[in-house]
Amino acid sequence: MPERPKFTVACDFDGFMTNLIPGAKEYYDAYVKAFGKRFKTLNPNFDEEEARYYLNAGLRTVYRQPGRHGWDNDGKKVAHAESDPTQLAKAAGQIALDYLGMQHKYKTPSKKDVNKFLGEVFEEAYKLDPIFREGALEFIEKLKENPNIRLIFVTNSKPDAVKEKLKLLLATRKTNLKLEDIEVIADAKKQDVDDKWKKVKAFIRIPGIPGKIFTRRKQYGETLIREDADMATGDNAVLDIITPALMGLYTLLLDTDALDNGPIILTDEVIPPKKSKNVRKIERDYIEKKFGTMVFTELGLAAQAIIRLA
Ligand SMILES: [Mg+2]
Repeated sequence: MPERPKFTVACDFDGFMTNLIPGAKEYYDAYVKAFGKRFKTLNPNFDEEEARYYLNAGLRTVYRQPGRHGWDNDGKKVAHAESDPTQLAKAAGQIALDYLGMQHKYKTPSKKDVNKFLGEVFEEAYKLDPIFREGALEFIEKLKENPNIRLIFVTNSKPDAVKEKLKLLLATRKTNLKLEDIEVIADAKKQDVDDKWKKVKAFIRIPGIPGKIFTRRKQYGETLIREDADMATGDNAVLDIITPALMGLYTLLLDTDALDNGPIILTDEVIPPKKSKNVRKIERDYIEKKFGTMVFTELGLAAQAIIRLA
């Protein structure tokens, strides 16, 4: 008898297996440092300490205009600044470069090099040890031992970075899991938009959030098709969930404690206005209602739901 195809889960890694929120301030400190160092390579006279001033100014601008800023990829918004600490720092970095560019004494990266500059700053800042979510190891064990399920990690991170983190996770206690048995598709480029990829509509708008969100994420979508994915999971609604949901896949969002505890704070020096809208909550409510995305706060509950579906 032919075997029935397995239920393939394309699982996000950073922010899904790990929790980015508890380390947000530490991450920002590392980001400020990396930004200053990188900017100094363009401007040898730049005082690295000044980076904090410009980044904080960028952060203030983001908080004042909820939903307006985010990961700008070739003029297209592909994730909201408010969605996680790395996006928030990146948006602040983008604005900081604008501010620095207005000062004639500084040389800033050309328009096409901004993403490269910010990408390098991110890579450098992101070397901190990950904070795994409770039940991260059990999540992988449970899905791997279920005969009906195929688990693959589909992540933007670099292959070596994911393997290193998985190694740390497997070392947290005794387990039968082996690193080489865990499938990882890295460099997934979930942010890359290709308008010629017609499998989904070009953009959506989320009521309450200004601007368009571009959804033709070709490389991510084609990866899901090639791997015959039935479900996609993630912690970032715009980056992980919306394209697969438009493709008709099951989707699962892991909500983090940031949602109900208000906006993400990167530094005590810049506190968001009290009445600021919670962009993450708007995103979450939208995908839940529009696509039936399952939303959980714990990996254990997410695993149970996936096993039930498979
Ligand atoms: Mg993520």
